[in-house]
Amino acid sequence: PFSQLPLRCWAEIDLAALERNLRLIRASLPPHMRYVAVVKADAYGHGLPQAAARLMHAGADLFAVANLAEAAALREIGPGWPILLLSPLLPEEDRHLADYDLIATVSTSDEVRRFDAVGRASGRPVTVHLKIDTGMGRLGVWHEHAEKLCSEILAAPHIRLGGVFTHFASPDENPAFTAEQRRRFLKALACCPRLDLSQLFIHADNSAGLETLESAGPFNAVRVGLLQFGIVPRRDSLLAQVHTEPVFSFRTRVGIVKQLPRGTGISYGSTHTLARDSAIAVLTAGYGDGIPRAASNRARVLIRGARCPVLGRVTMDQTIVDVTDIPGVASGDECVLVGRQGGAEITVTEFSHWADTIPWETLCSVTKRVPRLYK
Ligand code: PLP
Repeated sequence: PFSQLPLRCWAEIDLAALERNLRLIRASLPPHMRYVAVVKADAYGHGLPQAAARLMHAGADLFAVANLAEAAALREIGPGWPILLLSPLLPEEDRHLADYDLIATVSTSDEVRRFDAVGRASGRPVTVHLKIDTGMGRLGVWHEHAEKLCSEILAAPHIRLGGVFTHFASPDENPAFTAEQRRRFLKALACCPRLDLSQLFIHADNSAGLETLESAGPFNAVRVGLLQFGIVPRRDSLLAQVHTEPVFSFRTRVGIVKQLPRGTGISYGSTHTLARDSAIAVLTAGYGDGIPRAASNRARVLIRGARCPVLGRVTMDQTIVDVTDIPGVASGDECVLVGRQGGAEITVTEFSHWADTIPWETLCSVTKRVPRLYK
């Protein structure tokens, strides 16, 4: 019965826009590039099964997820879909590689031994992608040591090498370092002459990396997360020319509207004091839904197509905004936290700035309490 209740805070997910975005990104790349759809963290909060099904329909070649739970959920809807695990497995998780027919990321000799044992026990080779650390300092074998690990993989009888990849540390901030990472990767590949690159997925670029992809070279795949959801990390980015559309919008309602006298302190800690007699609206969403508390006194929301400032601290279930200058605001009015209303728009990127964070984190912070509506 509760599913029939009116919505107080919800996200709208435009799957048709997601599909168009994938097709646009693809069309902007060399035709041989394969598309690895990054759908970890519940497809960046958009909902894994729904987003992945649409991305597959639009032509994704491979899915990338973070962990086994995500891989298992994806396997349920896509029995034959290729799935790459980006995060390391815990030793007790290894056997599930075979159970769910997953592709593992390999960074260490220990993993080569473990995954070879899984392949031997299951009677089917385990496919892996070799990850090379070219300067991210996270996963992957250090590029100067790649040759040895590559030989170990090729010598392991129950492992099949399906790809080689790296990850950029600052593609949106430091193009020179990104170029250096590309050079290190190519040098490491050259040290492994037994590799038949045309038979492997060779990938490095995430969304921001695409901007610095001058010539494809041996790269034949890209790993796209944020951009497929219509978010360009930087406004001045060349990627904005791909004209992807936002997929996600985040909405709530006005609970009550009331008048308060000048001098009244607003919300916990009274961090805002009304400078004039004001009309305030109390919204039916707070940090329990994913409006970051860090956006207190900074965020704006759209009501009746106008931007209204958040006053005082965001609380768990409610957020207070100034509607003094907007005539006719009433209980039940729709309020946009991220998205369009009338001619106005708040982007995920703008919303993230108010909370001193990044779009990736904003999307991951929309909580379970928030139903996702698909259109
Ligand atoms: N590849 C790896 C290894 C990642 O960790 C991520 C995301 O964090 C991506 C690709 C996708 O990045 P983006 O969302 O910037 O496209």
